[in-house]
Amino acid sequence: MHVDIVPVGEVNPGVKREASGGLRSVYDCNVTVHDQQAVPDDSFDESREQYRAEEFIDLAKRVGSGEKNLAITPKDLFYHRRNYVFGLAYLGGSGSVISTYRLRTSSDGGFSQRSAEEIFSDRVRKEVVHEVGHTVGLEHCDNKFCVMNFSPTVREVDQKEERLCGSCQREIL
Ligand SMILES: [Zn+2]
Ligand SMILES: [Zn+2]
Repeated sequence: MHVDIVPVGEVNPGVKREASGGLRSVYDCNVTVHDQQAVPDDSFDESREQYRAEEFIDLAKRVGSGEKNLAITPKDLFYHRRNYVFGLAYLGGSGSVISTYRLRTSSDGGFSQRSAEEIFSDRVRKEVVHEVGHTVGLEHCDNKFCVMNFSPTVREVDQKEERLCGSCQREIL
């Protein structure tokens, strides 16, 4: 599988590196990083002051050269009625997106001794693995340590591990 990472807006090199590393560690895939793209003009919702996640997925699909194309953006995303999303993907689709905006926001509440930068990197890795997981056909998993567990807050992201549980792993073989 070839995954093309499509940076949308100003994405720092560390984020691209962590995202590539996370994907390679979990999936049997080649990862490339596309040229940076401008944030889609019409994705901004003025009343919410947030960006529509779907338009980032559409952009990744349009410009990406992979079988799977993952947009990464520092912009704050929302989807339908949810206040915000860390990422979005359609089951079995070719495009997905993650936002780093809220992954930096808070500490892990003393969950570990790691630095803020390490915690942030881990969150990025887990979120990219999670969204690409949806595109290879995985749904949310009840195992709270599985990377496919639904994690609406950073607390749950920090709790889960950067890997698929045994049953999710078997599903993609
Ligand atoms: Zn999900
Ligand atoms: Zn699982």
